[in-house]
Amino acid sequence: MICRKIKANLADLLLDPESVPAEVRSHVKDCTECSRELASLEATMNLMEDWQAPEPSQYFDSKLAVRLREEQRAEPAGLVERLRARLLFNSNVHLRPIAVGALALLILIGGGTYADLMSSHSGTPAKTSATVEDLKSLDDNAQVFQQLNALDQGDQNDNSGSSNNDL
Ligand SMILES: [Zn+2]
Repeated sequence: MICRKIKANLADLLLDPESVPAEVRSHVKDCTECSRELASLEATMNLMEDWQAPEPSQYFDSKLAVRLREEQRAEPAGLVERLRARLLFNSNVHLRPIAVGALALLILIGGGTYADLMSSHSGTPAKTSATVEDLKSLDDNAQVFQQLNALDQGDQNDNSGSSNNDL
């Protein structure tokens, strides 16, 4: 019998020896390599049996319950409140509008360059209206981003003295 075939049965041999054919069991008993393999598998399984997930802190449940009750009381908050909470929760959020703005600028520059190339090749006067429109919308977006940032920073200051974040 080939050892490679036996090895597929080693786990069954450990967990439920009766399910393994008698010839497999007798081979493992006689073959040094297969019995060594079986011993190593058994050692691994014993290790996994001893491994235990760490217990959470004894205050975890009560802290979580307090937080849940707070959230339930705060539920009627409007959309603005929930947005502010989300902004607070994600500490890097004030970087995101900047990234979006930079991306928009890159697209704008890329698109403008492409339009210039096209117009110089065809000889027709450059159409700037689309670019101007883009610039306008970019300006509007920048204002929205500034407002979001002000909201974010103002909120962080408001909550610096509270004890809500000690979970
Ligand atoms: Zn063998």
